Amino acid sequence: AGAAADEIVDPRPYAELLRQWSSFHPEFLTLPRKFKIAVIASETDRAAMKLHDIGIKMVRNAAGEIGAQFYVGGGMGRTPMIAPMIREFVPLDQLITYSEACLRVYNRYGRRDNKYKARIKILVHELGKDEYTRQVEEEFAHLLSLGIEPPIAELERIIPYFADPAFETGLSDDLDLSDPDFRLWVERNCHAHKQTGYVIATVSLKPVGGIPGDASADQIRLMAQLAKDYSFDELRVTHAQNIVFPHVKKADLYTVWQQLDEAELGTANLDTVGDIIACPGLDYCSLANARSIPVAQKISQRFGTAERQAELGELKLKISGCINACGHHHAGHIGILGVDRKGIENYQLLLGGSEGADTSLGQITGPGFSEDGIVDAVEKATQVYLSNREGDERFLDT
Ligand code: SF4
Repeated sequence: AGAAADEIVDPRPYAELLRQWSSFHPEFLTLPRKFKIAVIASETDRAAMKLHDIGIKMVRNAAGEIGAQFYVGGGMGRTPMIAPMIREFVPLDQLITYSEACLRVYNRYGRRDNKYKARIKILVHELGKDEYTRQVEEEFAHLLSLGIEPPIAELERIIPYFADPAFETGLSDDLDLSDPDFRLWVERNCHAHKQTGYVIATVSLKPVGGIPGDASADQIRLMAQLAKDYSFDELRVTHAQNIVFPHVKKADLYTVWQQLDEAELGTANLDTVGDIIACPGLDYCSLANARSIPVAQKISQRFGTAERQAELGELKLKISGCINACGHHHAGHIGILGVDRKGIENYQLLLGGSEGADTSLGQITGPGFSEDGIVDAVEKATQVYLSNREGDERFLDT
């Protein structure tokens, strides 16, 4: 956010406005269950927007005005659902009022008799998208007459808090890619920046055979120093368990990569089979049915070589140790779910999930597998992909 070349606007001020609206909001204190909101502002969805209670996509209408597209009723966990779009365009000066209407209908009719059916996704599903939308629109019309929207001056007050850092201008976009390892890392781990001469660089915390998302104290100190020296003192943690330097000058990128690489932080595997999301699982979590981390490590080792990762291309693999889905297994191109079979750890394989612009939910495939069996099952799924894909089709599309 605030860095990607494909954003129509920086989504953070809108997220901050929503945060201020929701913090200490009396209705949020009495909702049937927890509530999560995601805001994006580009076609590429990097926030699993449609898998949130409210997903908001900042868009432009035909007149070029910025507004919000509303998706309500998504989520993962034991009843995964993709949020349907309920409003194509809400003007900026009605953003909070429309959010309030979505919330009020939920607060009024969301189920409180069964905590497994209390999330807004169940209400939207049970009422149906059309009836939920009708009720929201009715409530929205009522709320508009009450004038609850904060003045647009409040949004304008927030925007400067997310001002761009002092980018240098007139920089070249050229990058010396003569070092093949650096080239691979740039191709895999870097994304286009909105400012000429800058790039968004992602540090993969997924070395071959490592624990996904782990970093040593020394590695964390190094990343903090690099952020200070080369990314306007800013780094971010992603939901995919990696670290992003949002604003790196292309002229500095080789130096940054060399230092990362020396510290074993230069793995070039973003969005490939080695870039696994794994929840803590039975190693740490008291709710778990099965371990996630050793499975992730075995898969990472099996598919560890650069050649295998290149052969398979984009392949997002996500592992959860139980149905709560903290590892987002429903949204993995390959998802793995740990289950308990008569006291023995067992794993289900899901295929075809995605949390991007093409959000879909993975389908359970085949019987459960043992810890080693699930690694073989992933191998089998990739073999089927390689022998059936057409052209450079992605795993997900095949
Ligand atoms: S998915 Fe289950 S096992 Fe994994 S962290 Fe969440 S609650 Fe724990």
